[in-house]
Order: sequence, then structure tokens, then C-alpha cells
Amino acid sequence: MSDRAKFAGIDRRGMMIVLSSPSGAGKTTLSKRLLASDDNITMSVSVTTRTPRSGEVDGKDYIFVTQDKFLSMRDHDELLESAEVFGNFYGTPAAPVEAILSRGGDVLFDIDWQGTQQLMAKMLGDVVRVFILPPSAQALGERLKTRAQDSAEVVAQRMQKAAAEISHWAEYDYVLVNDDLEKCEKSLTAIVQAERLTRPRQSGLTAFVRDLQAGL
Ligand code: ADP
Ligand code: 5GP
Repeated sequence: MSDRAKFAGIDRRGMMIVLSSPSGAGKTTLSKRLLASDDNITMSVSVTTRTPRSGEVDGKDYIFVTQDKFLSMRDHDELLESAEVFGNFYGTPAAPVEAILSRGGDVLFDIDWQGTQQLMAKMLGDVVRVFILPPSAQALGERLKTRAQDSAEVVAQRMQKAAAEISHWAEYDYVLVNDDLEKCEKSLTAIVQAERLTRPRQSGLTAFVRDLQAGL
């Protein structure tokens, strides 16, 4: 057998890929595409007190909980981060994320700037932050309307809040303008591939290079 055939890969540490944007810029769409094309990424399913939208599945899109249940989880340190967004509570259950990272898997998060700051405070070196911008205010408004999952009142409220969310763009490592969906998905995939190759995330490199040098 050739040396090339024996190479079994380098052990790696999983990373936390965070996508944030104003509502309607395309996080959910991009997340679904990335998950479909990459077996090593798992979506973090948040708990929320918001009402399910039509088509949303409990346990898949979100874990829908009462406010009492949410506050109990938060008070018992079961959430990695949490925030109030549009009058509802959202949070990331800690246990599934820790299990995936420890076996070298990557976790994808669709969370807002408040949650991103909390993850950075706790797990700095594991977090890769990507901010998604819409190509224009008009496009954002049209996307929120064509998604047709919220009332006109909720759409107006989300447009009003967009400026506040966008004001945090400079806190992110990467910023993508989601104009052409295919192009944006390609850029996101490139970020994931490059971030996997950073030296600290290739945790098996030291052992690999030691063995390599021993054979020279
Ligand atoms: P978010 O999760 O950020 O709130 P969504 O992924 O739900 O946003 O996208 C909002 C709407 O915009 C959806 O109807 C989606 O199909 C559409 N959309 C997403 N990306 C694009 C794009 N690049 N061009 C046109 N429409 C898009
Ligand atoms: P939506 O109600 O449109 O699903 O989400 C509204 C906002 O809440 C989005 O900006 C989304 O990124 C954010 N969000 C969803 N889940 C979480 C979470 O677990 N934590 C935080 N901090 N924000 C979340």
C-alpha cells in the first residue's frame, strides 16, 4: 500500500459557525443549503417562546416552549446563550452543541448579535461569525413579504428592527451580501472550508507531524 493510501486524515476540533442578519436576509435559506451539502455540519435547534409559523416543525425548526419552561432552562444553566428578540425569548440548548463539538463535528447557529456576543465570551476560539446583508432595503422588504409567513404588522416590525441588527455588522469575521443565492452559498462554503484548515482546529496535526518526522 502506498503512503498516500494509508493517510487517514487529521483529527480536528469542531467549530461553531454563526449566521446573523436582519430577519429576511436569507439565513434560513443559506443554512438549509449548507446543511444539505455538508454532512459534518449540524444545525443548532434553538428553544423559543414565539408561536410557530405555518410549516414550522417542533423539534426541527425550533423547540417551542412556554415562557416558564424557557426561564427554568435559562436559570438552570441549560442554555449556552439567550436573548429577547421581537418580544420573544430565544436560546441555544448547551448539551447538544457540546456533544457535537467534542466529536469533531461543526455546529451551525442562526442567532442574533446578542447571542453571538455571548458565545464569543464563552467559546471565543471555536466561533466563526458570518453576517448576511440584503442587497438593498427594498429587497429585504420584498423578501419579508414574499416569505408570507408573518402578518403585515410583524413584517413592518421586522423592517423597523433591521437597522438595529445591521448596526452590528462590524462585530463579525465575515460579511456576505446575499444578492445571488448561489454565489452567496459558494462564499459561505469557502469560509467553512478555510476555517476548518486553521492550525488550532486541526488538533491532530502535532501527532501527525511527529509521526511524519519520525519516518524521515
Ligand atoms: P431569514 O432566515 O434571514 O429571516 P429567509 O432565509 O427566511 O431569511 O429568507 C427570506 C425570504 O427571502 C425567503 O422567502 C427566501 O426564499 C428569500 N431569499 C433568500 N435568499 C434570497 C436571494 N438571494 N434572492 C432572492 N430571495 C431570497
Ligand atoms: P425568527 O423569529 O425569524 O425565527 O428569528 C428572529 C431572530 O431571532 C433572528 O435574528 C434569529 O437569528 C434570532 N434567533 C433565533 N434563535 C436564536 C437563539 O437561540 N438565540 C439568539 N440569541 N437569537 C436567536
